[in-house]
Amino acid sequence: PDYKFGTVGAVACDADGNLAAGTSTGGMTNKRFGRIGDSPVVGAGTYANNNTCAISCTGHGELFIRAVTAYDVSCLMEYKGLSLQEAMRIVVQDKLVKIGGEGGMIGVDSKGNTALLFNSEGMYRGLRDNAGINEVKIYK
Ligand code: ASP
Repeated sequence: PDYKFGTVGAVACDADGNLAAGTSTGGMTNKRFGRIGDSPVVGAGTYANNNTCAISCTGHGELFIRAVTAYDVSCLMEYKGLSLQEAMRIVVQDKLVKIGGEGGMIGVDSKGNTALLFNSEGMYRGLRDNAGINEVKIYK
């Protein structure tokens, strides 16, 4: 069988509004031995806070670490009062693009609102909610 070993990220919101995020990855192709990407770095590739959002990222980890990407989304929500969608748009389509950080992220807030954004050509992604949305997509 042809197994594909790629990044898997997940975010979830339970019935009480508790949030969780997790990210697993093999890292970047041809990475240096011992490299640590953004995925296990809380605040960079992965972050959850019941007051704001849960975020899981995929992409060029060095840039996601430099931008403290997942936490930045939470900060924009907490300190500027932005929605999840708007905070993610600023981080993924503006801030990351400006520093050359290609990739994307999935997010959910404590009300169950979801967003899946990327500045790359595509991002394998799926979404399921209690309103009946059940979708899987790759490209825009
Ligand atoms: N962000 C990961 C890393 O830089 C790779 C990925 O998720 O695509 O290690």
